[in-house]
Amino acid sequence: MRVISLGSGSSGNAVLIEAGPNGRTRLLVDAGLPCRTLINRLHLAGVSPAQILAVLLTHEHNDHTLALPTLLKRYDPLVISDPATLAALVDNSRPEFQATAGSQVDAEQPLSLGLREKRPAARQGQHRACAERVTTSLPLRRTLALSAGSSCLLGDVEIVSFPVPHDAAAPCGYLLSAGGCRVCVVVDSGSVTPIMLEAMRQADLLILEANHDRERLLRGPYTYALKMRILSPTGHLSNEQAAQAILQTWRTDGLRWIWLAHLSQVNNTPQLALRSVQRHLLEAGAALQQVHLAPLPRTMGPAWDSTRLWHDEHWWRYETLTEI
Ligand SMILES: [Zn+2]
Ligand SMILES: [Zn+2]
Repeated sequence: MRVISLGSGSSGNAVLIEAGPNGRTRLLVDAGLPCRTLINRLHLAGVSPAQILAVLLTHEHNDHTLALPTLLKRYDPLVISDPATLAALVDNSRPEFQATAGSQVDAEQPLSLGLREKRPAARQGQHRACAERVTTSLPLRRTLALSAGSSCLLGDVEIVSFPVPHDAAAPCGYLLSAGGCRVCVVVDSGSVTPIMLEAMRQADLLILEANHDRERLLRGPYTYALKMRILSPTGHLSNEQAAQAILQTWRTDGLRWIWLAHLSQVNNTPQLALRSVQRHLLEAGAALQQVHLAPLPRTMGPAWDSTRLWHDEHWWRYETLTEI
């Protein structure tokens, strides 16, 4: 598997996943950048947007879906998300696009791409008010409603979605497996649940939100209401919460890579997030040499290539150092 962060933070999120021979299965987890930026960064990664098989959405907020309307109009990738997220996107679309929405791919019907529903499960929670802006004008044509808690196979990648607590319609994280490697993506989430920990524990590469430093947020310029929203159990994870989640999923059976994601521009810095998480891990007695920690930049981030890791330790160390 090859994984590249195309952008991370409140200003936009997208992760490129490639798996299979010659990286033939190409997915995006979220598409929350301006479309031109997203396409430019895909090209920098050597990928044409037309090669993107599907976009997996964690939730409908704008910083995760901004590029979707243009991407759909030009390239029409499959959109995979919880049905409530799809509904929220359609609800917030301009009327002229709502007519084209809803021709969903039935998850129970096998697709030519080798997609099949494996384990349907109950949907998480009720709809909640969306406090962040959501994307408008969405020409959804090909969608796969994958309920949070379900899994499917898409090309070379097994996709497991799991619910996370956040103030969106049906927010989820993803555990993606291919070629014996697993990548777990947990972004916007106000708290950590046992089902999230179970998914994180399995990951060789964990992309985990470390949104803010709690003290910096409390002292900072945000309104009281916004501070309370971010700190709530359905807001965003702090550096300390991220560290606690890492400790709760600590593995002693090998190296693990952890990218700290969705850093706030106002209430965090890459250096602060890294030092804070490292300090909490050290205070708990964790052996830091067992994890490769790197904060993700707002711009194009590091690449993780499972086929190179076993041969080229220096390559990874260089990537890590350049991000700090
Ligand atoms: Zn959000
Ligand atoms: Zn977000």
